[in-house]
Amino acid sequence: MRPEIRVRFDSSDIPGGAQTILEPAGCGPDVATVEDVPVLRQVVVWVTLAEDDERVPVLFELLRKHGETWLEIHEDRYTEDELDNARLLLMWPNGECEIDGGIWRGTTYDLSEACPACGTPARQTSAMFMDGEDVPKLEGHRAGGTFVDVPCVDERLAEELEASGATGLYFRSVYAVMEDGRQVKLRWKQLCAKRSLPPMSPLTTGLGRYHECKVCNRNGYALTSEAPTRIVYRASDLADADDVNMTWEHYNEAALEPNMRDTHLSYPFILVTPKVMRIIRAAGVTEFDWIPIRVIDDA
Ligand SMILES: [Zn+2]
Repeated sequence: MRPEIRVRFDSSDIPGGAQTILEPAGCGPDVATVEDVPVLRQVVVWVTLAEDDERVPVLFELLRKHGETWLEIHEDRYTEDELDNARLLLMWPNGECEIDGGIWRGTTYDLSEACPACGTPARQTSAMFMDGEDVPKLEGHRAGGTFVDVPCVDERLAEELEASGATGLYFRSVYAVMEDGRQVKLRWKQLCAKRSLPPMSPLTTGLGRYHECKVCNRNGYALTSEAPTRIVYRASDLADADDVNMTWEHYNEAALEPNMRDTHLSYPFILVTPKVMRIIRAAGVTEFDWIPIRVIDDA
């Protein structure tokens, strides 16, 4: 695993341009890209370095000197071996295929056993409904995530996963809601987990908290660019984990409204075994990021 930092800045106002920064920082084309983005009126520079690279502080110093602000993204890079040998991996839709489906399109949820203040955890009671106008966007994809990062896969991949005997897994149908209100069943499935894991270890880092519910404190978890996501579990809490699991922690803030379609819900992260990841990746799916979790002994 290599902790990495990606730095983005706009070089359009720097005399001499991007090279004024990159050259003295020793950042060549192997670590930096420079792209003119006329719609933003920016010349966007991305620099990717190992977190402990000596060039990082030099780069920041040069940017400060020129009065420039920047964006930092902190991520861990894992080797194939590390992914393959993880106990579980976070399966996170990376936005390559975004599906306009959810509660706002008519997907229903039962809140009778949920927190009265925020509706966490809501129990889905219908198929996934999505906007019919968005169906063409699925073309060329075999997997994706909804606007609230609920994973969906095409029917063939769902069948493969089912045939693998992966435990804890089930699927829901996906329907497109057309302009005239018709519901058309798609050859896609929503990937769901049957059970929830116990809470993560407090040693977990890189999950931010935003507008968490004061009553249940179970939602508002979020991946953040400020620190790499390092999810930790106690070994005993994973003893009977399935191949596909929900986390106790939910992402998104939640806001209950009298009208179900206006309600914002929080959702559990999905953690899977490498077995499930391998089937999905073997299908050519690049629409998920995979982050191995860490396991600590209970002592
Ligand atoms: Zn709550």
